[in-house]
Amino acid sequence: MKNSVLELYTRIFPGSPRFLVRSPGRVNLIGEHTDYNDGFVLPLAINYAVWIALSPLDENRVELYSGDFDQQLGFDLGEIRNRKETWLEYIKGVAAHLINKGFNLKGFQGVIQSNLPIGAGLSSSAAIEMAAVKAFSGVSGFSIGVKEMALVGQKVENDWIGVNCGIMDQLISAGGVRDHAVFIDCRSLDYRPIRIPGNALIAILDTATRRELAHSAYNERRRQCEQAARFFNIASLRDLSLELFLENRSKLDITVGNRALHVISENQRTRLTTEKLEENDLKAAGKLLVESHRSLRDLYEVSSPALNQISEAALASRGCYGARMTGGGFGGCAVALVDANKAENFQEDLYRLYRNVSGLEPKIYLSSAVDGTELITV
Ligand code: ADP
Ligand code: MG
Repeated sequence: MKNSVLELYTRIFPGSPRFLVRSPGRVNLIGEHTDYNDGFVLPLAINYAVWIALSPLDENRVELYSGDFDQQLGFDLGEIRNRKETWLEYIKGVAAHLINKGFNLKGFQGVIQSNLPIGAGLSSSAAIEMAAVKAFSGVSGFSIGVKEMALVGQKVENDWIGVNCGIMDQLISAGGVRDHAVFIDCRSLDYRPIRIPGNALIAILDTATRRELAHSAYNERRRQCEQAARFFNIASLRDLSLELFLENRSKLDITVGNRALHVISENQRTRLTTEKLEENDLKAAGKLLVESHRSLRDLYEVSSPALNQISEAALASRGCYGARMTGGGFGGCAVALVDANKAENFQEDLYRLYRNVSGLEPKIYLSSAVDGTELITV
């Protein structure tokens, strides 16, 4: 990727670039639908990334060519308007929010090249936001911490793009740690790297289906969680113990109770997974992934036939410790914890089993955990 983005730069602009930025996508290992309940998540940065090669410009302008869209676009830093039209909005949104925070931005010209699938749920949008922050920090000569970067990206996504996301995607893209997943407390934003045993790989399994009706279902789940929290007179389900919940469950609407039980148990599973990984107990960690999937399927009801089929196909494949749907649900990807020594067997089995049962061709992305967004001076 590094060479191909450098080469792309020299094809589009004269001279060679001054900086390179690598900004990874992410997958969430466990902790699903817990973020908006102030709970815990355990994502990792993956070795598929958005790259930018760039050089400072004397003018107060940004000129960018995206190899993935085969399109060159630009804007003046002096007058940034939200047009909600192209991929450039992510860069403009980052610039506008950084300027708002008082950063003095310089212009640059650059190219974007990515091997992160777009719109597949691996958060290419967070990756490009974090890449843009680092690109501006490089040419403008300021430094910015991981949490602050993530908050800028989340604001861009919420206010500029209009996507109501939490902080996880940006925080893990910017703050990923090589060979570690990162345990994030979505209330305090404190985070802690958790080592993934060296003999394990992460497999991301794309069902080749995309979510439908996800928006209304998501809003409905959020309302149900808030309803449960109100019943217990707490700020969010994060604050509810399993004991207190079970004592009072019968007074709750059955569906609302199911939703709450998922969130409470998922928070516990996420914590437990960190312990099991730290004990090198991949079997136990894998079992927790399977329990998470069942809970998302039966209690939270956000899985889909394809997500169930691919998770089951993964479990029946050689070298698999555990698998579950990942992301919002209703389509997209599953994640599996795989024995690194059996990665080829796993891929072979998964491909065949999923295709036989679903008639669809899965895409498989094998990854280790990598470092977050980095700026390289060329
Ligand atoms: P996801 O984050 O799941 O990949 P989104 O719809 O949130 O999907 O974000 C995808 C958008 O991010 C693209 O439509 C594009 O605007 C922007 N983007 C991602 N990768 C690139 C790229 N390589 N070049 C330009 N824009 C990109
Ligand atoms: Mg996105």
